[in-house]
Amino acid sequence: MKDDLLAMLSPFRSVRARFAMAMGILGLAFGLLLTGIIGYRMERNLRDAAHDSLDAIATNIAHRLGQDVGNRHREVALMADLLTNNLLFQDSIGQVIDGLKARQPVYAWIGFVDRHGKVLAATDGLLLGKSVGSRPWFKSGMLGSFVGDPHEAVLLAPYVTPGEDGEPPRFLDVAVPLLDEKKAVVGVLGAHLYWDWVRSVVRAETEDLDRKGPVEVLIADDQGQWLHTPHQVVAKNLSELQAKTPFGEYVVARQAIKPVANTNGLGWTVVVRENVDYAHAPIKDNRRFMLLFATVLAIVFALFTWVVGGKVVQPIVRLARATQNQNALAYYGSDTEGENAHADETQLLGQFMNRLAHRDLLTGLSNRKEVNTHISQAMELTAATQSHGALLLLNLDNFGVFNNVKGYEAGDQILVAVAKRLGSLLEEDTALSRINGDEFVIVLQDLGQEAEQASARAVAIAQKILRSFTAPFSIAAGTYTVHASFGVYLISTEPCAVSDALLYAELALRKAKHLGKNQVAVFTQAMQTELAAQVKFEEELTAAIPSQLAILYQPQVNEHGRIEGAELLVRWRHPEKGMVSPGLFIPLAEETGLITHIGRWVMEAACRQIKQWQDDPGKQHLVLAVNVSAKEFASQDYVAQVQRILNETGATPARLKIELTESALASDVEDVIAKMHALKELGLTFSLDDFGTGFSSLSYLRRMPIDQLKIDQSFVRNLARENNDASIVRTVIALGNSLGVGVIAEGVEELAQKDRLAQLGCTHYQGYLYGKPMPLTDFERMSHLVLLGRASAGQ
Ligand code: C2E
Ligand code: CA
Ligand code: CA
Repeated sequence: MKDDLLAMLSPFRSVRARFAMAMGILGLAFGLLLTGIIGYRMERNLRDAAHDSLDAIATNIAHRLGQDVGNRHREVALMADLLTNNLLFQDSIGQVIDGLKARQPVYAWIGFVDRHGKVLAATDGLLLGKSVGSRPWFKSGMLGSFVGDPHEAVLLAPYVTPGEDGEPPRFLDVAVPLLDEKKAVVGVLGAHLYWDWVRSVVRAETEDLDRKGPVEVLIADDQGQWLHTPHQVVAKNLSELQAKTPFGEYVVARQAIKPVANTNGLGWTVVVRENVDYAHAPIKDNRRFMLLFATVLAIVFALFTWVVGGKVVQPIVRLARATQNQNALAYYGSDTEGENAHADETQLLGQFMNRLAHRDLLTGLSNRKEVNTHISQAMELTAATQSHGALLLLNLDNFGVFNNVKGYEAGDQILVAVAKRLGSLLEEDTALSRINGDEFVIVLQDLGQEAEQASARAVAIAQKILRSFTAPFSIAAGTYTVHASFGVYLISTEPCAVSDALLYAELALRKAKHLGKNQVAVFTQAMQTELAAQVKFEEELTAAIPSQLAILYQPQVNEHGRIEGAELLVRWRHPEKGMVSPGLFIPLAEETGLITHIGRWVMEAACRQIKQWQDDPGKQHLVLAVNVSAKEFASQDYVAQVQRILNETGATPARLKIELTESALASDVEDVIAKMHALKELGLTFSLDDFGTGFSSLSYLRRMPIDQLKIDQSFVRNLARENNDASIVRTVIALGNSLGVGVIAEGVEELAQKDRLAQLGCTHYQGYLYGKPMPLTDFERMSHLVLLGRASAGQ
């Protein structure tokens, strides 16, 4: 459920989208803030404006009404003046007021009333002769100028028809006292104005307003009682009028109508109100606009950021996608795999950084740095529980060759496949790492307190893995079988540095490889001692070249016992150990590369010697044989080096013989053959040393410019006794004959051996029978002798 949601949101979780969203939100916030500030300032103005506009309407209405009533009052007063000054005749009064009423349709009735309240003259003759003495307007009019409040028609009711809306007809009274010369009140001139007049004023003032909703006008008298209201007025009177009503909230403006001069009438209040929904419509419009503005702003911000920010974050995104692809490609044993689907770029990059720090990028296993943590954890656990742990160091056998032959791509695929297989064979929480190249480390914990048992368990696991390697690995490039070797170091309570533990496992691994690969070896103290000795030995050998090196000469004779030359055999005069056999230090020199120094030195010595003998008729025929290791011979500039030495010493190349062992052919045969031909061109000769112990194939032999086969001494040793060896020797000699090359036997100690060899067709000999390896001076002294050969030949 949560995952679904995350998946749904994932497109929005990219850095770019988040960038854009953030800017969108910023835009929105900015827009809203602006809306708020502007809105607040504008709303106050708009609110004021709404009120002011209503106020203006109220003022207009008040003004109109005040002015109209004032005018009517003036008209009535003027007419009263005319009447009291006897400017009009009694009987013409009727005509005058009729005329006035005709001119001003607002007049409903005008009447001339004497001081007893009797109507003496009236428009349309209405109420003529009737008494109006009880009417308030008459009573007020007797006391002074009067403008009254509207009231329903009383006496005139029968004569007027009700209004359109069915309301009873209402009048507004204006009354002015009539005075005689002595200023005594003699009567009242009264006028009734149609109340409809107020409505028409209100209608006229509110009709053409350009407003959203209806404007309501209310008029209250000086007591606050309503004179004019629209229908739905809840308040009983002005003082109860509220802005908020059950019908809605209103904006209210009020204006007082001033009393008409010299009267006690009018003094009304005009109230104009409008529902806030309409009155404040501009505010709402404004808000709506501002919200739209904010939204548009947000979208513009977001879009802009998407485009511009998109460019900015592009490298990040690309990097993140690349890491994601990489994860998908070779991620094994990932603990973040599940999260990857929903991770955004920053998270992906974070994971990648983490992997860079702790993981091997190819296989996804822990890396070298992490393995140290595994080992120290295992050590801590062992210290705490006394239960042993183990460090298993696995190295693929001949992986370098595989890489060379199949290419690095396939090599990488094999490593990933191996990582997978190891993972499948181990328990889930077992620490598995690749520390470099084809080297994997497994750290096992809690193997038991008994050291032997723990060691056996670790070995069993290693062997289980080796057994599993008999099944081939299927990779894109094909199906291959790869073997491996294991070095095991048992983690005990004995304190040991992490780096040492790895070194010990490495030593054990070396042992396993030495034992013939596809093996498991457990580290022992002896290995360490051996290593220490080896390191020391190596240091000493380095220092010994060439000062402590010496060369011995062992004669090589022909069938007649005549010395034809010698093989140069190197010795190390160790200051403490005395003479050290080349069997001990040559393999080390080969391993460390020191052999090239030794080889060059021996070659130089040989050539110098050849040169020395060159003009000596007794020695100029002597051929010196030099042993050359496969590793030396494989070095790129070997041919050039030999040529340089020949040139420098001026030695005759024909007197130089190179002894190559068959093992030299094991590496790159074509290269060896090419180099042999190149050297052969220089004029020197070749002898194939230790012949019969290797694997020389006839086809290669045929292509090599060999001059001599050297039968290994192991065949010679048993020659007198065992027929088997005799048959090998016979074969070798036959082979030599068929190839057209000479045959020399080495290790000839007894005359019987020599005779047997001669019988079998061998023509050249080397061995204690003729002389042990000896110093130069000894050899020079005997070089002219004919040894045994003649004796045995019976000469
Ligand atoms: P190798 O080339 O087979 O040399 C012959 C070895 O047999 C020599 O041992 C020699 O002393 C020994 N030998 C000769 N005749 C007899 C005999 O009648 N009986 C017995 N039991 N042994 C005999 P050495 O001098 O100890 O040399 C051992 C190996 O060291 C040589 O085997 C050769 O492979 C290597 N070596 C010696 N000198 C050099 C060198 O200058 N360069 C290189 N690369 N290797 C060298
Ligand atoms: Ca040799
Ligand atoms: Ca040999």
